[in-house]
Amino acid sequence: MSGTNVAEKEHNAVIEIQNLGMTYTRNNLEPVTAIEDIHLSASEGEFVSIVGPSGCGKTTLLRLVSGLLTPTKGAVNIHGQPVTGPSRNVGMVFQQPILLEWRSILDNILLPIEVRKENKKDYQEQAMQLLKLSGLDGFGNKSPFELSGGMKQRACICRALIENPAVLLMDEPFGALDAFTRDQMNLELLRIWRGESDAFKDVTHHAKKTIIFITHSIQEAVFLSDRVIVLSARPSKVIKEYKIPFARPRTEEVLKEQEFGELVFQITDDIKANCGQLLYS
Ligand code: ADP
Ligand code: MG
Repeated sequence: MSGTNVAEKEHNAVIEIQNLGMTYTRNNLEPVTAIEDIHLSASEGEFVSIVGPSGCGKTTLLRLVSGLLTPTKGAVNIHGQPVTGPSRNVGMVFQQPILLEWRSILDNILLPIEVRKENKKDYQEQAMQLLKLSGLDGFGNKSPFELSGGMKQRACICRALIENPAVLLMDEPFGALDAFTRDQMNLELLRIWRGESDAFKDVTHHAKKTIIFITHSIQEAVFLSDRVIVLSARPSKVIKEYKIPFARPRTEEVLKEQEFGELVFQITDDIKANCGQLLYS
């Protein structure tokens, strides 16, 4: 159950992050180094969570992996290719469920297809399948205001998955939800991750999606992940990583296990010891 100090290089790495650094420079302002030197990899089908203190650079890291930002040092490779910009191979879910209010849920989910000027009809079935998998069957024609916060976030997950990306990046996706809905969403996400992969495995070489998930809830990180990465305060580095041993599929029974509580306690303790503060973003 002990953590290791150095990120191991995984076999079959889908995402490889090497010597990654990001310093923001703006006219007349002191440069801010958000990320100093991050090494990290994630293998196919792996669920990796990242925790760390507020402002340490978690969102920056995710934006670098997604190609929305260009690093000032080092590189991110996905499937061995350097990331140079946003790609259909990478889906992203943000903290707030951003949906266009004047569009139906289905048309929101199909938005990336429209942006790429592809034929929406080709993705209609995929969208319906995703709606079903995420418990939104029958909500495709509704407007966003007719959905609860949890349902909206599920719609955003569908949108991120519409192009069947190999990688899904999630930046505190359930941070704005109440505790009960959040617990439900955790189970839902694991189900979508499993089910979605099964549904698509015949038509794609991506057997299972690789997920990088940012959260300030250590309990959520331990419950969902294969590995939990702990970042230091800014400029951030990887200070520890934990392999999470619980079998899948996971149910809420895991929460009752003594080892679950011990892991949550140990990771919390590490963060307090290394960062000198608790981690609310
Ligand atoms: P986290 O997601 O861990 O809370 P962020 O990645 O959002 O952290 O931010 C890390 C640091 O980088 C913070 O000090 C923040 O103020 C700074 N930062 C983030 N985005 C920018 C930007 N566009 N320009 C300048 N500084 C930024
Ligand atoms: Mg953030």
